[in-house]
Amino acid sequence: MKYLKTDKQVYAAVQKELARQKDGLEMIASENYASQAVLEASGSVLMNKYSEGQIGKRYYSGNQFIDEAESLAIERAKKLFGAEHVNVQPHSGSQANMAVYLALLNPGDKILAMNLAQGGHLSHGSHLNFSGKIYKVAFYGVDKNTEEINYGNVLEIAQREAPKLIIAGGSAYARQIDFEKFKKIADAVNAKLMVDMAHFAGLVVAKLHPDPIPYADVITSTTHKTLAGPRGGFILCKKYLAEKIDKAVFPGIQGGPLENIIAAKAVCFAEAMKPTFKKYQQQVIKNASVLAATLINNGFELVSGGTDTHLILLKLTNLRLGGQQAEEILARVGIYTNKNLIPFDARKAADPSGLRLGTPALTTRGMKEKEMKIIGNLISELLKNHEDAIIQEKAKKQVAQLTHQFPIYKDLKY
Ligand SMILES: *Cc1c(COP(=O)(O)O)cnc(C)c1O
Repeated sequence: MKYLKTDKQVYAAVQKELARQKDGLEMIASENYASQAVLEASGSVLMNKYSEGQIGKRYYSGNQFIDEAESLAIERAKKLFGAEHVNVQPHSGSQANMAVYLALLNPGDKILAMNLAQGGHLSHGSHLNFSGKIYKVAFYGVDKNTEEINYGNVLEIAQREAPKLIIAGGSAYARQIDFEKFKKIADAVNAKLMVDMAHFAGLVVAKLHPDPIPYADVITSTTHKTLAGPRGGFILCKKYLAEKIDKAVFPGIQGGPLENIIAAKAVCFAEAMKPTFKKYQQQVIKNASVLAATLINNGFELVSGGTDTHLILLKLTNLRLGGQQAEEILARVGIYTNKNLIPFDARKAADPSGLRLGTPALTTRGMKEKEMKIIGNLISELLKNHEDAIIQEKAKKQVAQLTHQFPIYKDLKY
């Protein structure tokens, strides 16, 4: 970073952030460490190019090499997911969703999606988000007893509400989703099915989560969560929707695509084709299940009683601790998590009753079951004794030991 160094203020922020990432236990379920190849593509000169339009049909000259990079991203994604059509231009997962709505809906049409308060995502019709302002929304949640999706209930709501689009997929749902059942529900009410696999796309690649491809009309995703790529989005769809989706992304909602990020997406998709990626995802799930078991052994309750995926939703209700405070207690010793609503939460989103944990980033560092037990016990001890300074000091040392034992970005020199 020879040149950035001359801007002392920005350089300092970047350097400190690198140190934070190296020295902390990153357990935010939606985060990961992108490879250095992904970082290099993201920081490349492809950033400089305007390439509005599609491959071979750009609005500016000089796009022959940009086309090469974007073709690689598209072809690799098609192969990786077995998709008929791919658009890799959405700047983020939310933009991917926005493009799908623009392509498939008119303002005022109805969406049926998972409630944000029970595991959904802002861009699935929250009143705070464009999706809830432009479209009508009906929500399904989880069953009060199992805290899992009740497909019979989803069908009932779908029949009552007659949505044009049904969305499956969320941000804080720890269980597998049955897309075949969602497809049957969508067919029964003549709705299209969109699957938002932003969180579990990596698990789908590794065949550790049901595959939405046979069932969904359209699939949206991010590349930066379990896929461990650059921060960005993409859309997979059936051929009959290809033109509508492409036009919705550009000129519908975006101008020039971020071709440096698209090149990084291509790198990420190639990395996800390697056999080591499947092993990585298997370890992500093993780690989540050992972490869940460790927390349960320590007397914690988990939403739905456990996990089938990379994420865990921890209930803090019997600890007399709010999510905000829990997040802060752990961050103070370098364990990064996020506060989260739990189903039927009695508290508000700003300080809810849950804490969301994930294993993708720790697994990227090489941590396995043994470390998950240590970390699960550490989290339990910290949350149960949150006023104990000695325990906090001990925890800081343990975090330092673990992060040194499992270094990340070893040869990244800032
Ligand atoms: C993370 C996520 C997104 C999109 O996230 P961005 O921050 O906009 O990239 C969309 N849907 C779901 C379900 C997500 O979890």
